[in-house]
Amino acid sequence: MPANLFGKIEYLKGVGSARGEKYRKLGITTPYELIYHIPRAYLDYRCHVPVQQAVINEYNVLKLTIFRKMPPQRVRGGLVICKAAATDGIDDILIVVYNNVYGFHALKEGETYYMYGKVTGNFLRKEITSPVYISASEKVLIQPVYPLTQGLSANMVRTNMRQALDLMKESPFETLPEHILRKYDLCPLMYALENIHFPESDEAAEISRRRLAFDELLKLQIGMSMMKMRSRKNTAHKMDSSTDISDFTEGLPFELTDAQKNAVSEILSDLCREVPMNRLLQGDVGSGKTAVAAAACYFSVKNGVQAALMAPTEILASQHYKTLSEFLEPFGVKVCLLTGSLTAKKKAVMREKIASGEINVIVGTHAIIQKDVEYKSLGLVITDEQHRFGVAQRAALAEKGDSPHKLVMSATPIPRTLALIIYGDLDISAINQLPKGRIPVKTYAVTGKLRHRAFGFVRERLDEGRQAYVVCPMIEDSESDLLAVKSYAEKAAESDLKGYSIALLHGKMKAAEKEKVMKKFRDGEIQVLICTTVVEVGVDVPNAAVMVIENAERFGLSQLHQLRGRVGRGSWESTCILITDNTGEDCKKRMKIMSSTADGFRISEEDLKLRGPGDFFGSAQHGLPPLKIADIACNTELLSKAQNCARELLEDDPNLEKPQNGSLKMDTLRLFNKEIIG
Ligand code: ADP
Ligand code: MG
Repeated sequence: MPANLFGKIEYLKGVGSARGEKYRKLGITTPYELIYHIPRAYLDYRCHVPVQQAVINEYNVLKLTIFRKMPPQRVRGGLVICKAAATDGIDDILIVVYNNVYGFHALKEGETYYMYGKVTGNFLRKEITSPVYISASEKVLIQPVYPLTQGLSANMVRTNMRQALDLMKESPFETLPEHILRKYDLCPLMYALENIHFPESDEAAEISRRRLAFDELLKLQIGMSMMKMRSRKNTAHKMDSSTDISDFTEGLPFELTDAQKNAVSEILSDLCREVPMNRLLQGDVGSGKTAVAAAACYFSVKNGVQAALMAPTEILASQHYKTLSEFLEPFGVKVCLLTGSLTAKKKAVMREKIASGEINVIVGTHAIIQKDVEYKSLGLVITDEQHRFGVAQRAALAEKGDSPHKLVMSATPIPRTLALIIYGDLDISAINQLPKGRIPVKTYAVTGKLRHRAFGFVRERLDEGRQAYVVCPMIEDSESDLLAVKSYAEKAAESDLKGYSIALLHGKMKAAEKEKVMKKFRDGEIQVLICTTVVEVGVDVPNAAVMVIENAERFGLSQLHQLRGRVGRGSWESTCILITDNTGEDCKKRMKIMSSTADGFRISEEDLKLRGPGDFFGSAQHGLPPLKIADIACNTELLSKAQNCARELLEDDPNLEKPQNGSLKMDTLRLFNKEIIG
């Protein structure tokens, strides 16, 4: 392989340390990585128009010859304006460039260019402002437009790209064997890379994109499979299948649903194998995942090992702690709560008890994966609300024990095909049934005009002994939103909710304060909780039977569904009132879906359609390596082809050790950041 292609980016002509630094900021350290900086669109200079036909106030492509450059004018504030007169042979136009003397310098009198820029003026006098351009002698008329090139001009990136591609062309290589290319109808890699940047035609760009998207999906599949195989190679604590936990199930305040029983038995049978369990427990909000987790913990403890449960927030962790202690302490199981906000002294005491094995079940936040926490014999790790943790964090927890069994719980219902990709390294158990006696939550969408009536309804429920949530949006924890929530609460206390006990709960509060408020709400001392989305994840207070969501338009569908899942957990009829004055089509659609269905799967599918996959499957949500070209939600057909191909390649060469698979393996490691597989 050509060494320079994988050497420093500074190898390219014109890239010094300053420009190199800018590339590194974009995550580009070598010419090869630059080649994988994929254009987000193309500028097509073929479709130029005469000046006469340029659309005013819009971007146009013109073919212009410069006939007079004027000297740069300096105006106040250090602004420099450069102007040049140009013609398309019939009509004249003025080229105006702001603050770019250097760029302007490159334009030559008497030369002809294709220019793309915003045209202003009228039919008599026209201007084109700060156009991007190429020489009319340029043969490649479809030019790439790159994302995120701050401090790097489009022309620079294009020039460097050309050099990097030429470097690769000196000794082109191919990551896939010939028969695979033929079987899946893929173009050669070099052709794809050349044409994704400088396409000969629209079709060439399309063919190239398909090949590169396929590569990416293939690497994703291969990486996931290798992780799976690696964890399967380790041996876990093999538990005894005759362990009896019927005292636990009989002691529960309810009978497990068939779906829960099913999930428990799948999990227990995994625990009795030498291969570490790697399972996703998927179930809609309120389906009762915690009880299933508790059963798995009890089973593990009876088998002489510890179990750990990690939750994304302190509120959720302390709630799990409460539930698990209630369920398990009667059977002599010692449960503890370990979160970041404990005092150092308390933490130290707890760490000792964890290390000595005095404590059997450890519940907490990230605190439980810190280096200083040592377990005596960690046999099972559970993470709740999996999408909040990345692949790496999951792995960190797993490293705590001697390859423990792993269970992740998620309430984000994802269409099964996609779940298999995102959680490709996991087996899946689904709880597809809600506990008996649940009455579906009635949902209404109203405008602000009906707010008083809505609160009249809330008061009636409160008078019957129920509790309520009022959710106010707080996007990105901004101060102004916080003020809005606070003054909302004050106003409510004086008007609609006068005489009722209300409290405020938001993300900026200290953990101890939050916990105090939650406890009071759980104990029924607080009737109305005015809160931000801190309640979104997993809070469980069955007596709360009403939820009002203010500015409902500011929430996505899945988030609304999660929020609504906080009510309808008891045997009362529950209500969710969405308040919004937004009359946009998009918002109307969301409100309609919310009021017409409670099915989490349907809602997530609709969400996917409305929001688009990029947002829905942002890498923060699933912790997968970021994909640049392929779109896992849209390219499902290509995805299943890539899956087949991955299987085929790995069957033939499980560790990709054959020389012909070398560069594919290297690319895969690169995508997964090396640490994860290896
Ligand atoms: P989630 O799956 O959203 O985490 P939880 O585990 O918090 O759901 O359970 C929701 C509520 O349902 C809890 O109050 C829990 O005690 C109750 N619950 C769980 N399983 C059952 C069941 N089989 N029958 C009745 N109530 C149940
Ligand atoms: Mg939960």
